[in-house]
Amino acid sequence: MPGFRAELTGCFSTPCDDNPTVVMLEAGYQHLSLDWRYINAKVEPAGLAAAVAGGRAMGWRGFNLSMPHKVAVIEQLDGLGESARLINAVNCVVNRDGRLTGENTDGKGFLSSLTPLRDPQGARVMLLGAGGAARAIAVELVLAGVAELTIVNRSSARADEVAGLVRAARDLPVQTQAWDQPAAVPSTIDVLVNCTSIGLGDAEAMVSIETGSLRSDLVVADVIPNPPQTQLLKAAAAAGCPTIDGLGMLVGQGVLGVGFWTGEDLTPANSPDLVAVMRAALEKALG
Ligand code: NDP
Repeated sequence: MPGFRAELTGCFSTPCDDNPTVVMLEAGYQHLSLDWRYINAKVEPAGLAAAVAGGRAMGWRGFNLSMPHKVAVIEQLDGLGESARLINAVNCVVNRDGRLTGENTDGKGFLSSLTPLRDPQGARVMLLGAGGAARAIAVELVLAGVAELTIVNRSSARADEVAGLVRAARDLPVQTQAWDQPAAVPSTIDVLVNCTSIGLGDAEAMVSIETGSLRSDLVVADVIPNPPQTQLLKAAAAAGCPTIDGLGMLVGQGVLGVGFWTGEDLTPANSPDLVAVMRAALEKALG
């Protein structure tokens, strides 16, 4: 006799119509033979508390948070995991017997896409941007042992905030740099990451950098998942750099979320088949 109740998970955000995560997660559930659903729910800021209470009342296994709820959700939760506490933002909530714990898998998702190309241990990294994605990536890079961080951002106050978070996590050289002219990538930098929203939904948008400073031994990554081939990655590939697109980060944090919600030890590194299935579903959905 089949059961007629599926386990529920999902995402609360607005806007959300263009968020392809549902396709990726449900492909993953099918691959794992789980009768689970992922609901992409449009939730306005005024409705966040009620949405979280609803998830709790219905026994959802967990849910993701995207813009603009990653910080605001914290006061609705019962506790935070280590990364979420350091980053002070939550993108993944886990329901364990009615207790809701906030985690942050964005930075670890990014690390899972970086590590096959470059060990973060000892790396000198330059981040473009200082928003939520940059904060998550900066903190995880520091926990993973990078040697040095440079944060380039339009608003210097936000860059200083990220630098402060990084220093609170570990004592290491962190520089901030104003972004009032095209940024040159110093020859000492090993990894360049675009953490801004430049390129999201706009295949022609290009971050302001001196493309002549891209060297073939520089790893260039972009967090933009849609369209995944950004102008930055195209310029980097033309300069011979190894490149990493934003789909890797999206899939990585998705796999970690499934691991949290199922209670299984699932990481991108130990689940290559799941990674491949989820990435293929995303690529198909994004054309
Ligand atoms: P935020 O709004 O918190 O931060 C946006 C950042 O982009 C800020 O640093 C902002 O600078 C900078 N920025 C935006 N427009 C410009 C511009 N015209 N010139 C210079 N800088 C600019 O967003 P998030 O950090 O939450 O998200 C950033 C991107 O990361 C989004 O596109 C999102 O889709 C992507 N993302 C991808 C994930 C994945 O799994 N692949 C996961 C999470 C996010 P300033 O501070 O000066 O305003």
